[in-house]
Amino acid sequence: MQNRAKFWLPRRRPLRYDGRMNTLRIARLLLLAGAVLAQGCRKEARLTRVQWVVMGTVAAVQCADARAAQDARDTAREVFARMDAALSTWRTDSELSAVNKAAGTGAATAVSPETATVLAAALELCDASGGAFNPLVSPIMRAWGFNGAATALAPPDAATRDAAIALADWRHVALDAAASPPTALLPKQDMRLDLGAIAKGYAVDAAWDALKAAGHTNLLIDLGGELRALGEAAPGRGGWRTGVRNPFDKNVCEAQFLLADGEAVATSGNYERFVEINGVRYAHIMDPRTAMPVSGMASVTVVAPTSMLADGLSTALFVLGVERGAEFLRGYTGCEALWIPDTPESPVMFVTSGLAKRLTPVGGAKLNVRVVGTAIPGSN
Ligand code: AMP
Ligand code: MG
Repeated sequence: MQNRAKFWLPRRRPLRYDGRMNTLRIARLLLLAGAVLAQGCRKEARLTRVQWVVMGTVAAVQCADARAAQDARDTAREVFARMDAALSTWRTDSELSAVNKAAGTGAATAVSPETATVLAAALELCDASGGAFNPLVSPIMRAWGFNGAATALAPPDAATRDAAIALADWRHVALDAAASPPTALLPKQDMRLDLGAIAKGYAVDAAWDALKAAGHTNLLIDLGGELRALGEAAPGRGGWRTGVRNPFDKNVCEAQFLLADGEAVATSGNYERFVEINGVRYAHIMDPRTAMPVSGMASVTVVAPTSMLADGLSTALFVLGVERGAEFLRGYTGCEALWIPDTPESPVMFVTSGLAKRLTPVGGAKLNVRVVGTAIPGSN
């Protein structure tokens, strides 16, 4: 589940992967999904899993009843397609692209209530995290050669990074979520929104709501590793068994826990998108306060009451690191997290105490588990 993209990333020549979809990537995504199932980190024997490609990743629903799974797929597919049309920055006709195109013109762009909801949540998390999570990260991503920018030949210099940081000042975004229709406005010309750190989570919540309203009772929804549980996998199970994968060894499932009805889990990893500049690999999660890619973290997993929160927080905690992240997480009731620093030579997993209690070890696990609250070396 969590370390979803590692399987299909090219091993020998990992020069650049920047999130764009093509046939080869779709094939790899589907192969990856197959690999996940074959390794049995999450899938249980009697479940039907139906999957398809959307939003640049693999979506799936899992259910004990094969007919219900097909039916759920139809509902979820419609929801995810609608979200993609609204929130993708790869689509020039999306609502988000319209807001981005109008940046600096002074004209507010009408958006759907759903887009306004995601944007409002992103700005709130941005504010709460002091800009560690920032939906205006796109100019920073572009300075490093992501988000459709030309391949960077060298890391951006301080002046370039400062200019990108200035464009990421979220306090200037004008969102009127109460208007009918809601509107959004970016005041400076080169400001650009990128909701890639939270949109998939919101889409899972929207699918979860639609499936529940349609009468589904027991399903696991998966959008590129963002999972949300409805009911339980089988009567009496109490939820859906979920695995934590080792980011350094795709074959190893480190631990398992039960995702209860309504709960969501999301993972942010440094292996999912990256660019390589002068032989150095830079991963896709930025610290928007410095305009530098975050280094030193391999993956962060968050369990939360909604998928949007799990998604947003996993990115925020990736940037904040173990110590500050754990402190920040205290403000979020019902949320737990685990961090795996990028130290394959001394593999360790830091876990908040609530999640530590729920983890069950798996044979062959390689990471040392440390409950957060004990002394933590090397945290940002
Ligand atoms: P996730 O995989 O959910 O952690 O989202 C990572 C994606 O969010 C990246 O590929 C960027 O598009 C975007 N992003 C990168 N850094 C940040 C950040 N600090 N805050 C918000 N979004 C970010
Ligand atoms: Mg995220």
